[in-house]
Amino acid sequence: MRFAFHGEVSDTLASFADRLSAALTARGYERTDDLATANLVCNFVNRDKVRPYRRENKTTFCAAIYEGAAPPADFKEAISDYYPVLVRALSNVSVRVVPGTEVRFGTMEQGNYAITDDGTDAFYANIAERLAPLAESHLVIDNIWNADLEPELWDGDEVTASLTAAGQRLDALDLLPAPFPIQDYLEKRDLEHVMRLYSIGGLSYGNLSARKDDTRFWMSASGVDKSNLQEIGRDMLLVTDYDAAKQAMVMSVPPGIEPRRVSVDAIEHFKIYREHPSVGAIIHVHAWVEGVDATEINYPCGTAELADAVADLVRVQPDPTHAIIGLKNHGLTITGETLEEIFDRVEPHILRQIPMS
Ligand SMILES: [Zn+2]
Repeated sequence: MRFAFHGEVSDTLASFADRLSAALTARGYERTDDLATANLVCNFVNRDKVRPYRRENKTTFCAAIYEGAAPPADFKEAISDYYPVLVRALSNVSVRVVPGTEVRFGTMEQGNYAITDDGTDAFYANIAERLAPLAESHLVIDNIWNADLEPELWDGDEVTASLTAAGQRLDALDLLPAPFPIQDYLEKRDLEHVMRLYSIGGLSYGNLSARKDDTRFWMSASGVDKSNLQEIGRDMLLVTDYDAAKQAMVMSVPPGIEPRRVSVDAIEHFKIYREHPSVGAIIHVHAWVEGVDATEINYPCGTAELADAVADLVRVQPDPTHAIIGLKNHGLTITGETLEEIFDRVEPHILRQIPMS
């Protein structure tokens, strides 16, 4: 694994940069000046004048590192501080450093959490420990669309009707929060770059799926408005397989349409359906339920590592068919018999605020 530093390190962050470099090296990373071959690029930016790093290689993970004056007063202030930096820098994660006080990580899913700077090597090792697994994770980004959907499904079936109804129910529960208006911060070219970076068609949080038969399931498309799921192949896709060699999700779509990408979490749902024939539906929301088992590392959405971490937790639940799994600093993945059954069971316990650590 290789890492590179980019941008300008200010005097006040010089010591931070040196010690982070040492911590990454101690973790087995090799420092390089060749950005194109780096797995992790630490882009040091100025909050008031963010200079993006446009990665050359789609496997490069970008961290935007910047200095803050003091810890944010609350969650809202934290988001409004880091989000513009995250998107303007075209990065996967933001790292806000208040020298001698704390370092705060921020993600696209609005997850953000701080670790306290006690000046020890362990603090820097902790930062490296949080960046490295993300840099080493693999996005399952490719889609293969086969125009072989049987004609009787071109207008959907009772399962897609349940997806449409569930999307409206999520909306009524206010669980489809307005995503951050990144289009207000970015030029068209950079907006397209960010869409590719996160493998998203737009920004609309959460996703839902329901089983069609032994091997196939319907799932919401990436970035669509979940409160209005209508068209087959556009708003909802029939996932038929995962092509491990190509690391691509395989879908059946009607002929003659321009299909949309399936939700980036399709790989996670695929693994759960294949392993648990009794699971009939899965919902992912950015909300929380107290007392749930949760993943330990906040891998990015759509990575094989996140899919495995969630599938591993579903497997060890007393009842994998009715499981509620926490995704650290991010949200929940919930299994059930049907989408309706999930709502009826979980709705009374839903908390909109996700705990951050
Ligand atoms: Zn999510």
